[in-house]
Amino acid sequence: MKISGWGRYPLVETHLVSPHTEQDLRDHIAKGCIARGNGRAYGDSAVSTATTLHMRRFNRMLGFDAHTGILEAEAGVLLEDIIKVFLPQGWFPWVTPGTKFVTLGGMIAADVHGKNHHINGGMSGTLTWIDVMTADGSIQRLNPDDPYFAVTCGGMGLTGIILRAAIKLRRVETGYIEQRTLPAPNLKVALEMLNAAQGATYSVAWIDCLSKGAALGRALIMLGEHAKHSALHSALHSDPFALKPRRKWTMPMAAPQLLLNQYTARAFNAAYWRAGQRKTEPALTDWDRYFYPLDAILGWNRIYGRHGFLQFQCVLPHKTAEAGLEALLQATSDAGLGAFLAVLKQMGSEAGGISFPSPGLTLAIDFPNNRNSLKLMKCLDQIVLAHEGRFYLAKDARLSAQTLNASDPRMAPFAQMRQITKAGDRFYSAQSRRLKL
Ligand SMILES: Cc1cc2nc3c(=O)[nH]c(=O)nc-3n(C[C@H](O)[C@H](O)[C@H](O)COP(=O)(O)OP(=O)(O)OC[C@H]3O[C@@H](n4cnc5c(N)ncnc54)[C@H](O)[C@@H]3O)c2cc1C
Repeated sequence: MKISGWGRYPLVETHLVSPHTEQDLRDHIAKGCIARGNGRAYGDSAVSTATTLHMRRFNRMLGFDAHTGILEAEAGVLLEDIIKVFLPQGWFPWVTPGTKFVTLGGMIAADVHGKNHHINGGMSGTLTWIDVMTADGSIQRLNPDDPYFAVTCGGMGLTGIILRAAIKLRRVETGYIEQRTLPAPNLKVALEMLNAAQGATYSVAWIDCLSKGAALGRALIMLGEHAKHSALHSALHSDPFALKPRRKWTMPMAAPQLLLNQYTARAFNAAYWRAGQRKTEPALTDWDRYFYPLDAILGWNRIYGRHGFLQFQCVLPHKTAEAGLEALLQATSDAGLGAFLAVLKQMGSEAGGISFPSPGLTLAIDFPNNRNSLKLMKCLDQIVLAHEGRFYLAKDARLSAQTLNASDPRMAPFAQMRQITKAGDRFYSAQSRRLKL
């Protein structure tokens, strides 16, 4: 059958199976495979040209220590389920991506980051151990000081199959976030505001990537803190984790491509900017609306039509960030493609292996999948290289091996390590083949 990542591109012919024992996994490893979590990586990292192992049946929570907040769970457990079980007890994940429909294994394999990377780091920093099935079928318990731990967190499933992990949760008093929105009229001001907000636990900027001239890079900076019990309205005091019912929408089918063009994207961005300017008063928002706004529209990836979409995500070091971001946004705005969503976040220190985050600013932009977008993204690649940035593999569907290696000197030694340990013969995805990892 043919499957894809969240961007619905590329579609890859694979043998998809849902094993449920460790012996099943061992048997598949011998023939070549890649693990798949919930398929939320955008490109082709979670699909193999050989066998793709859907890990959803490894979905048990194994134990929780209420003193330390450490949860032991299997790799196929969804983040959504972790929150549902533990938030009512006053615990929340330290790190969360922008969707709760991801598995523990997928979060570790991509070493995901949230809006608090500059303060709390990435997923790998929240783990006390992981159990990994390696190329010879043996299971190794890896601690954070083990070099194989470092290459597995962020290693995109290419070092082995993550079976279980112990993950630290954080104490929270409520399920609410105190949010502030600050409008920034252009990129320069947006960067100054983000910089001034270094102390905020959560910070993210929505960028109007189609604005031009003096308004290039105008943004809404959204800052957030976990709300204390005393900050809640008295009606919520008895149940500070209660969630107001949230209406769910389902995208019924792939939207016609005509719906998405520079005019609709410009109109949407302008309306979003205006609405954001009216919301500058501090406000309480529940965790679901704050962290996962897109999860309310099930299947929103169909909005880009049957050809799917691509996300471009890079990180630029502080020293080149302003010039690099300006060049990236200028090229995007000039191209005038239907780019709706552009998000800028701060990043803190680097983890090991080939993990993506590094100190600086990370920009992510969605594009409809078509020839013009692919051409533009090649130009964006060159801008990233010229500004010493690197690319996020969890979002990639189309980079070349040459560009990846030019951006990141850690990739060639990683590919070599895979040869030596035989991981390269056993674990491969369409992405790893394309990128010669
Ligand atoms: C709306 C949206 C918002 C997002 N926001 C963010 C964000 O803010 N920050 C961020 O970092 N990412 C973000 N992402 C990306 C997403 O968090 C990652 O791609 C994550 O890896 C997806 O998890 P998954 O379980 O769906 O894994 P999949 O997409 O199925 O797999 C992703 C990778 O993990 C590997 N993998 C999965 N399970 C295992 C396992 N058990 N053992 C070994 N390898 C495994 C796969 O081989 C693949 O390489 C976002 C994605 C979406 C759709």
